[in-house]
Amino acid sequence: MKEEYDVIVVGGGATGLGCALDAASRGYKTILLEKDDFGKGTSSKSTKLIHGGVRYLEQGNVFLVREALLERKRLLQNAPHLVSNLTFIIPNYTTLLGPYYYTGLKVYDMLSGKGSFGPSRYLNKDEVVNRLPNIVTDGLKNGISYQDGQFDDTRLLISMLCTFTEMGGVAFNYTKVNELIKSNSGDVVGVKCHNRLQNEDYEFRSKVVINATGVFTEQFQKLDNPNISIAVTPSRGSHLVFNRKFLEGDTALMIPKTSDGRILFAVPWHDHTLVGTTDSYNEEITNDPVVTDEEIDFMIKTANVYFQQDTSRSDILSSFAGLRPLVTKSNTLDTKSISRSHAISVSPSKLVNITGGKWTTYRKMAEDTIDEAITVGNLKKQICITSQLKLNHGGTHINEKRLKIYGGYAGQIQALEETDPKLAAKIHNELPYTMAQVVWACDNEIAHTIEDVLARRTRALFLNAKAAYDSAEKVGTLMQSVLGKSDEWREKEINTFKAFAQDYIVD
Ligand SMILES: Cc1cc2nc3c(=O)[nH]c(=O)nc-3n(C[C@H](O)[C@H](O)[C@H](O)COP(=O)(O)OP(=O)(O)OC[C@H]3O[C@@H](n4cnc5c(N)ncnc54)[C@H](O)[C@@H]3O)c2cc1C
Repeated sequence: MKEEYDVIVVGGGATGLGCALDAASRGYKTILLEKDDFGKGTSSKSTKLIHGGVRYLEQGNVFLVREALLERKRLLQNAPHLVSNLTFIIPNYTTLLGPYYYTGLKVYDMLSGKGSFGPSRYLNKDEVVNRLPNIVTDGLKNGISYQDGQFDDTRLLISMLCTFTEMGGVAFNYTKVNELIKSNSGDVVGVKCHNRLQNEDYEFRSKVVINATGVFTEQFQKLDNPNISIAVTPSRGSHLVFNRKFLEGDTALMIPKTSDGRILFAVPWHDHTLVGTTDSYNEEITNDPVVTDEEIDFMIKTANVYFQQDTSRSDILSSFAGLRPLVTKSNTLDTKSISRSHAISVSPSKLVNITGGKWTTYRKMAEDTIDEAITVGNLKKQICITSQLKLNHGGTHINEKRLKIYGGYAGQIQALEETDPKLAAKIHNELPYTMAQVVWACDNEIAHTIEDVLARRTRALFLNAKAAYDSAEKVGTLMQSVLGKSDEWREKEINTFKAFAQDYIVD
């Protein structure tokens, strides 16, 4: 396959899809290439917050917080079925720190300006217990509440993907870029890649190539120049998922300083409790880092200081970790102190690199990157329209009322279930998904493997890893018939998924 494009984007995470969508929506002929599945890397492993980042305010990074708060507001406007307003409470067990956090959060409110999600407030002890009924009350003095955003990372990503392809964009998953094509003068003018599902090599040419490979950026830039000196410090953030009973109600708990100085959240997410995250140096650069026993012990210990009902390893329904692509000049290991703001660079051979940032700011990162790409690729200038671009595809049950208004996904799933009542059956009785969602993912969301469906088109693996493991046969059999695959494919897929899911299960 040989094709010519205006823009090639390499990397199908939030950053790459953001860039691809920005370029396509400005009218540029765009292709996106992802070596695994869309969102397989860091973009499926976030803490699911659309936020300014209270922590970055503490680091004095007012500009980053202001920018992220503006993007938070835009995301709520453009994808209200995927982003929701959530109350967070910082409980105070000492009267000393309350005024400090309250002042900080009032600055946070102020920075959000007209995009405010609601004011921060002092709460008395009863109000805290009302909103967080499972919190330890011994020694509790009062609390502070603030408002921030929450989302489902891969459902937003799939919504971006569907919007991108609807605009004429071309997207390949399982297609790794292995080589850059250069002109006689040494400029990057295309890529050579390998599609591992079809076992085929493709070659695409373009006016500009964007490297949005996240933690892999250093490796990718070495395809351009083996002597490149950029350094990415991979910082692992791990999460645990528990039953909802540990944190009932619809309010999140924010622990501003754990025993080792980190922020930890306990957030209600898809009717479960999500706890995270940690911040540790990860030796290997991979899409699949694994939560360590030390991190599990640390998060359980910390949660048990705040949860009335003690948790233990056997209560963990799933565990997952992602790597932050933090750009450093030198290889420092103190990952907490490295800024999350993004960096765009252009190599002498005109490869455009975008790194850093966060999920919340993907749109702004993409706007800045495509502005740069226009100059580098000498493209006809078109203005960015994504600040107003609606992302209507792909809701989940995160906000049922809004889903009904936006129809889309929920309506399509319902239609499928009505056409064939067998598809209305649940994947597993402990998971909120039906077989219709498997069919929809294969037919409309470029899902090829059981893992694509159970980890990123639905969030089964993230909500209950054992239930996802147990669903492999059922899902694999349905996918076999939808995709027209062989028995051998089915067996291999089931075994591959089961082996993969082991890393999410905590024994
Ligand atoms: C634990 C954790 C929690 C976080 N929580 C939040 C949060 O709550 N809110 C928030 O706003 N941000 C959060 N972030 C930050 C946010 O998740 C990341 O900034 C964002 O997901 C990075 O996206 P990305 O596209 O740059 O990287 P990735 O998602 O890693 O995507 C890069 C992609 O490039 C692909 N790739 C690499 N090499 C090649 C190649 N040669 N050919 C083709 N494809 C290639 C990879 O397979 C990968 O899919 C969190 C980060 C972590 C680690």
